[in-house]
Amino acid sequence: MTATISKIIWLAFGLAWFVLRLRPRRRSRATPVRYSARGVREFVLLAASLMGLGIVPAVYVATHFPRFADYPEIPVLSYLGTAAGVACLWLFHRTHSDLGHNWSVSLDLRERHTLVTTGVYGSVRHPMYSAFWLMALAQVLLLPNWVAGPAGLVGFGILFFGRVAREEEMMIAAFGEEYRAYMRRTARVVPWLY
Ligand code: SAH
Repeated sequence: MTATISKIIWLAFGLAWFVLRLRPRRRSRATPVRYSARGVREFVLLAASLMGLGIVPAVYVATHFPRFADYPEIPVLSYLGTAAGVACLWLFHRTHSDLGHNWSVSLDLRERHTLVTTGVYGSVRHPMYSAFWLMALAQVLLLPNWVAGPAGLVGFGILFFGRVAREEEMMIAAFGEEYRAYMRRTARVVPWLY
């Protein structure tokens, strides 16, 4: 596989990701929010993630900047990256189906919010973040550049570690013992591990 093909695959994953979000975005706009933990902090976290998973790699794919940080493409890594991207898109789609109208791009509780604990939410409580980690992994494996490749891990890492505990606190405040029990029987992002 050549570096150009790897870049095209990364672009196709980005496009598929965008398309998969069209319907959930429309549906979430139609469902009123009853509580929101949005604020400057959430804005900064979302910007970091967008920068690392979107803007930095997109600039690299479009302009080849920063060229000085290139390294030779290693085909086996590109194949692994493609597999990670496919797994990510499958999981991303499943999480949106399972969350339904409860989904938000930030920390919100919606009208008639229900606690989802089945489907891909049966073994981990943040499977959408698992999908984001898979996309960040796909990016580092597909883009042979020391800046554009790891940017997704850094950007999404900032969002994940800056948000996940607050999200769980918000869910405990909303669902109490039901969420605590759910936490006891699930992992955060990797089944049985973390
Ligand atoms: N952290 C989850 C969801 C990300 S979307 C995941 O990675 O899969 C963020 C929104 O999902 C938050 O606003 C929160 O209200 C909602 N949410 C998180 N976990 C949920 C669950 N188990 N059931 C219903 N809504 C949930």
